[in-house]
Amino acid sequence: MGYEVLALKYRPQTFDDCVGQEEVAKTLKNSITQDRVGHAYLFTGPRGVGKTSLARIFAKALVCPNAANGNSCNNCEQCFEVSKCIHMDVIEFDGASNNKVEDIRDLIANVDYQPTKSTFKIYIIDEVHMVTQQAFNALLKTLEEPPPHVKFIFATTEIQKLPETILSRCQILGFKQIQAIDIIKRLKYICEKENITIEENALQFIAAKARGAHRDSQSLLDQAIAYADGNITTQTIIEITGSIADNELIELIDHIFSSDHNQLFNKVHQFIQKGFDLGEICERLMEILRDIIVVQECGEESIDYISNAFYFDQIKALSVKVRRDGIQYMIQMLSDTRNKIKYSNVPRVLLEMTLIRMCHSSDLIALADIAKEIKSNKYTNESTTQTQSAPTSQSRNENPLMRKPSTETAAPNPAITHEEPQSQIATKPTNTKASESQLISGWPSIVEDITSKDPILASILKKNLSKVTQVIDNQITIELTGDNERIINSVNTDTRKQSVTSAIFNRFNESLKIQYILNNISDKKKTVEIDDRISLPDKKDVKISIGESLRMEEEKVLSDPDIKKVIDQFDCEVINIKKKEN
Ligand SMILES: [Zn+2]
Repeated sequence: MGYEVLALKYRPQTFDDCVGQEEVAKTLKNSITQDRVGHAYLFTGPRGVGKTSLARIFAKALVCPNAANGNSCNNCEQCFEVSKCIHMDVIEFDGASNNKVEDIRDLIANVDYQPTKSTFKIYIIDEVHMVTQQAFNALLKTLEEPPPHVKFIFATTEIQKLPETILSRCQILGFKQIQAIDIIKRLKYICEKENITIEENALQFIAAKARGAHRDSQSLLDQAIAYADGNITTQTIIEITGSIADNELIELIDHIFSSDHNQLFNKVHQFIQKGFDLGEICERLMEILRDIIVVQECGEESIDYISNAFYFDQIKALSVKVRRDGIQYMIQMLSDTRNKIKYSNVPRVLLEMTLIRMCHSSDLIALADIAKEIKSNKYTNESTTQTQSAPTSQSRNENPLMRKPSTETAAPNPAITHEEPQSQIATKPTNTKASESQLISGWPSIVEDITSKDPILASILKKNLSKVTQVIDNQITIELTGDNERIINSVNTDTRKQSVTSAIFNRFNESLKIQYILNNISDKKKTVEIDDRISLPDKKDVKISIGESLRMEEEKVLSDPDIKKVIDQFDCEVINIKKKEN
């Protein structure tokens, strides 16, 4: 008997063999045991994940006379014929090569005839998205009301190309990419059966290369077996695939993180001498950088999600060296370079310059850090009487995107921490009296503090644009903007005033009496200048009376999450709102 490729020899034969697609297998099996088999199924998912295999297993379970509990016997003539694709009632059809309307007409011409050997006639149409529009139309009527003995199983990698009329007539089952761990499980099983020894690392390497497709992993194993005489090492896979070993790329990333230009050029030189594809280097670096972020975010659990679990320890070591936003920026640069390399005559230059820029991407300072620095400087200047001046958040020589050494021993955690102790020292002076300006600028934070105790009060204060207008003789005056005295009455109760008093005390260590005043917009004909050239193109400066719509516009701006973030980060306030010129 001739040699049979592994992907065919070890094609799963029962629902239980379908490693990595357990959910779909269970759904199909249950539909048989519960006698609820639909007349049309659509299997959708990436290539090489077992759609055709499951279609055959399902067909076999339907035609096998000895089927029990939803499983075929795999022993009878019918099972054998389906497995070998020679069963007369299980018709496999390739949508890519038989996509014309005549092909479909031929197919459905036989639909009405009874099955010859079994109780069902099953049509498996692979790559169904390749079928033409007219051919789909010819299929529609049959699909709507097929004879009871007819079942359709469609398979596609591109569900978005299928017309709605087809989708709505099918039960759709999504196939997922196979996880590396499941691919490795299957490869190990095959190697045992074939009496092949293979290094654990080589299995990881194949699984990473196969990118979620069983078929690709098994083809690669086939090549490796032919090349290696029974003992497969990582080196075998590197040689047959012509790819770079992950540890070499991890070393390159380490050189980037430590800004070691010399080693970096040396590494690229080696890659080029070995004839590696520079575009692939970009892609693989992106994957490893992604793994580093996953480790930063998920810690030990991430071993299940990263693309090459074999290098978990090295990736974990890298994850404490550079912060997430720095790595995200590096991935963006590599992605751009990957696209440019395709059309460049000097791909090496592009790659090297990108890697150099990646070394220095850590010099860029995150917005949060700039804000922190401004804040801490501001408070140092303002409250000179403070016994403890707030330290600047980053010393000039320190690289803010590089993680501090002290975090190296700690478990990986999200890279950016927005609140650091020093900023709290700055906003919560405990030994000194707060100035009027501090109370004015700190008012939004006080309102936030109130939210947890009295959310309704906080909401009234926010909605009516409350602000501190003055602080004199231990009395704080808070202005609310609105059109009705009832607003003041609702906040001017003893309990609510006490909530505000204690919130101020907690933040500023000040006991103040509360006075509310109303900025009544229904009485006043307050005017503001707005520059509105979009709606009133002929007039440059228009005076309009302030009204409900303008107030709502202001509120909309003030509640915008991005504006809030800027106000929060820079501790500033909105002075004027202008419409954007076109
Ligand atoms: Zn059977």
